[in-house]
Amino acid sequence: MNIFVVNSGSSSLKYQLFRWPNEQPLCSGLVERIGSAQAEITHRVFDVQAPGPPAAEQRSTLAVPDYEAGLREVVRLLTDGPGAVIGAPAEVDVVGHRVVHGGEFFTGPTLVNAGVKAKIKELFGLAPLHNPANYQGIEVAERLFPGTRQVAVFDTAFHQTLPEYAFRYALPTALYTEQRIRKYGFHGTSHQYVADQATAYLQNPDARLITIHLGNGCSMAAVRGGRSLDTSMGFSPLAGLVMGTRSGDLDPSVLLHLLGPLGYTAEQVGTLLNKESGMLGLAGANDLRDVGRALAAGDARAARALDIYAYRIRQYIGAYAAVLNGLDALVFTAGVGENDALVRARACQDLEFFGLELDAARNEARTPGLRDISRPSSRVRILVIPTNEELEIARQCATL
Ligand code: ADP
Repeated sequence: MNIFVVNSGSSSLKYQLFRWPNEQPLCSGLVERIGSAQAEITHRVFDVQAPGPPAAEQRSTLAVPDYEAGLREVVRLLTDGPGAVIGAPAEVDVVGHRVVHGGEFFTGPTLVNAGVKAKIKELFGLAPLHNPANYQGIEVAERLFPGTRQVAVFDTAFHQTLPEYAFRYALPTALYTEQRIRKYGFHGTSHQYVADQATAYLQNPDARLITIHLGNGCSMAAVRGGRSLDTSMGFSPLAGLVMGTRSGDLDPSVLLHLLGPLGYTAEQVGTLLNKESGMLGLAGANDLRDVGRALAAGDARAARALDIYAYRIRQYIGAYAAVLNGLDALVFTAGVGENDALVRARACQDLEFFGLELDAARNEARTPGLRDISRPSSRVRILVIPTNEELEIARQCATL
């Protein structure tokens, strides 16, 4: 079986083609700046005989007026020319789509039909930045892969196991029952993937885990026995940890103060909290590599920003150890979590009380794949697990 995974954004599209059952990636790629005369396409081909990073890469710059033109070009790359990996679109058996918001309708991977599409559309109001692009991705793929099954895998689905006392806000009940205002949580595909890997590594099907996804967006989850019990993002991906450009948790009165006495419009507040806050607002740089360089050069703003970033993670570790009534492993993943030894060290600092002992040398080592960076004496394992959301989407399609 060939499974084609598509992650559609408003101006970009990421894809990966897998061959099943051996989970072999055949190619992956990215179309950036859709809607411009100078869109960029990167197409990478894997060597089926030699597992590892892609063996070849093709880059092209061309006009891609809209999403359909972008996916059409990807289909051409898959089937034609030096980077071709299949003969025709009909050789794709399943197209798996990342869909950000599944609301309370979707708790797992779902075969797309007219009813499912209508529900995804109903959720545009809850995810105005993401679901419309994901929906369009499905419609275009239906045209370019006619007769191929389409599957939707939702970022929120993994967190649908949260108990009601964890997902409700203390607002008047009608805002939940009529307006669906509650915690949903995001990054579910990533939390599920690394939690499954950690559970297998620990050989404990009931493992109590705290998974920490630190990328541009950042979130944590409390996972027990493979079920999400709580997570730091909420009604939207703005809640919880300090992120690259998002504020994370905030007293709601700050918004009232911005909107009232300080004269901001709602749109300005949205831009402030989503695009100008987080590490960008605190340190002047949203990329943790830049923050690390500034810190090394003695920049006091960068030092304080990192203190705030790490403190928030440690607060959630404490909270989730309580949620789980104990802890078997912490799991770091995504761009920052997988690569930034300093952030990991700061996030694990002064937590001996919980039985967390980081091994400094293992933390600094850069071996690929799953790594245990705790000391042998540590009661809690500390793991670094590279996430792979595309593979997780493909697995869920295959299981379905
Ligand atoms: P996304 O949330 O968009 O999927 P990623 O998981 O790819 O993001 O993470 C991107 C972020 O990872 C970058 O903004 C950068 O801050 C961080 N990052 C990537 N590599 C490193 C590194 N070697 N050291 C520190 N941070 C890194």
